[in-house]
Amino acid sequence: MQIVFIGPPGAGKGTQAERLIKKYNLAHLSTGDMLRAARDAQTEVGKKADQYMSQGQLVPDDIIVAIIGERLAEPDCQKGYLLDGFPRTIAQAEALDALLSRQNTSLDAVLELRVPEEELFNRLAGRGRADDKPDVIRQRLVAYREQTEPLLDYYEKKKVLKSIDGLGTVDDIFNRVVETLADLSTPA
Ligand code: AMP
Repeated sequence: MQIVFIGPPGAGKGTQAERLIKKYNLAHLSTGDMLRAARDAQTEVGKKADQYMSQGQLVPDDIIVAIIGERLAEPDCQKGYLLDGFPRTIAQAEALDALLSRQNTSLDAVLELRVPEEELFNRLAGRGRADDKPDVIRQRLVAYREQTEPLLDYYEKKKVLKSIDGLGTVDDIFNRVVETLADLSTPA
């Protein structure tokens, strides 16, 4: 299974992703985690990325596409993967499509986790990560609205988008995700 997880910062993608990869034995590809690791290791890519991350802005597409292209070529991705936080722009989605078509494969589903903006702000403000300061949170929400939300239309047109209500307990949301994925294999 090859799945993309889309949702605004604070929607709970990371928490749900952890559970999903265990249940379906998928590789977990979080570009946010990869960038934080690169930043902490002070690599050139990490230092460059931090200039954007610390401002709540998206890291340039060429950097992200190079990172994910290398990662997708690793053997553990053969068993299936969950892309968490990628793609985040139309250009990234197009680059992913090009990579997938070269491998003669495609996405099984793009899951959107929907959470109202007021709720996101409260969740993020309580989290305490370096990019969870109010100004930076606001900027990350703007980046989501302006650069990532257009992907919903993009994937809707490709008939792979599944929107899931992201309110409720972690268990409630996980059950919705699992039901949605189960429906994929049942012919309509
Ligand atoms: P996340 O952990 O997914 O919220 O990502 C944290 C930060 O890493 C984001 O605010 C961006 O600055 C950067 N980032 C992660 N994934 C991407 C991506 N696909 N494209 C651009 N920037 C990204």
